[in-house]
Amino acid sequence: MNKSVNIVGAGIIGLAFARAFSLKGYQVNVFERSERVVGSSIRNFGMVWPIGQHKNAMLNRANRTAEIWQEICEEAHIWYKKTGSLQLLSSPIEISMGQEFYDAEKDARPELEFYTLSQVQSLVPFVNKQHVRGALFSPTELIVESREALRLLPEFLKAKYQVNFHFNTAIIDCYNNILTTSAGQKHQADLTIIASGYETQLLFPTVFELAPVTISSLNMLRSYPISDQIPALCAGLSFLHYPSYEVCKSWQEYHSYCENEFPLQVQNGVHLLISQNAHGQLTIGDSHHYGKHHDPFQSNDIDQVILDYMNRIITPINFNVAERWTGQYLKLTNGKSEWFEEIQPNTYIANGTGGAGMTLGWGMAEECVEKIIH
Ligand SMILES: Cc1cc2nc3c(=O)[nH]c(=O)nc-3n(C[C@H](O)[C@H](O)[C@H](O)COP(=O)(O)OP(=O)(O)OC[C@H]3O[C@@H](n4cnc5c(N)ncnc54)[C@H](O)[C@@H]3O)c2cc1C
Repeated sequence: MNKSVNIVGAGIIGLAFARAFSLKGYQVNVFERSERVVGSSIRNFGMVWPIGQHKNAMLNRANRTAEIWQEICEEAHIWYKKTGSLQLLSSPIEISMGQEFYDAEKDARPELEFYTLSQVQSLVPFVNKQHVRGALFSPTELIVESREALRLLPEFLKAKYQVNFHFNTAIIDCYNNILTTSAGQKHQADLTIIASGYETQLLFPTVFELAPVTISSLNMLRSYPISDQIPALCAGLSFLHYPSYEVCKSWQEYHSYCENEFPLQVQNGVHLLISQNAHGQLTIGDSHHYGKHHDPFQSNDIDQVILDYMNRIITPINFNVAERWTGQYLKLTNGKSEWFEEIQPNTYIANGTGGAGMTLGWGMAEECVEKIIH
């Protein structure tokens, strides 16, 4: 008889564990409270972003995750695009930061290149030439359309690995590897994985209160389709947001520069990320506000702070906002890359990937399942 695992949550982390356990011969059941996934995993940019990860372990995990995304998307006919990433640099200090990153990382990322403004213009015709002076290009980044991918993946995992999905099934208790649903049904397995994202406090309030975690709330926008096809973009402020850039010697100086130059962006945790989907729409963000509870109101002023910064970098023609939303994710405050903890015998929390669950999820699950099994 095969060993069994129950997984709570069908976001990217729950799905990644479902795949990893299936590959080890486990019988897998996934329980998702909603009729379709609506959490962090469909609210993001769909950026699979190795460039943002520290070299060595996390870069390897991100590269492995990118490889799995490509394999799965090809096999399941899910749209993705290997666009690479272009970090648009606007001032002498940003060019220096780019150079420092390049020098420190060129062994780990041999495909990294500096682009001149004219090379940037050939890829992004509407770049703002008043400010942008050049860019760092990395070819390793991919885009998936997460709201589509996350809804197609369960079908794929069911067909390929016989994973059983129980949608519309909220778990209200977990004890001794027995899950209780809101309808009162009990489901027992050898192992349990709690991949319930930023709502983990509902099922394990005490564990959540004691854990080194906070919740980040982000403002996001999406445009109507534009006609140009562009790579995934970020800009100078992203130096302050990804761990990989901490290798830059001028990091602290750049932080101070941004506090003076972009005070509203720094106060609201704004940097610029732009991904384009198959329809030509741009997903644009984001801001970051931290706390264990967030108001549900999306401030237009903060959206404007994001758009003001975007307009310094690019000025897309016929640009109009089609959608706005907020997303939340659980973030660790101890600097670790994931929250993977055995909270009861054979019951594990799998969480805390912060702003990088799409980038690290598949790889993280493979590594964690290896640890559990051995
Ligand atoms: C705005 C935004 C932009 C981002 N951009 C990127 C990006 O471009 N690239 C990147 O790598 N990462 C990005 N991230 C981070 C990434 O989206 C998250 O790290 C990842 O989605 C977390 O996945 P998860 O499975 O842990 O959580 P979720 O996707 O939230 O999934 C948890 C699931 O558990 C279910 N659930 C909760 N409680 C229960 C219960 N009791 N019973 C049953 N089901 C339950 C929920 O309904 C939910 O579907 C972004 C995040 C946000 C919010």
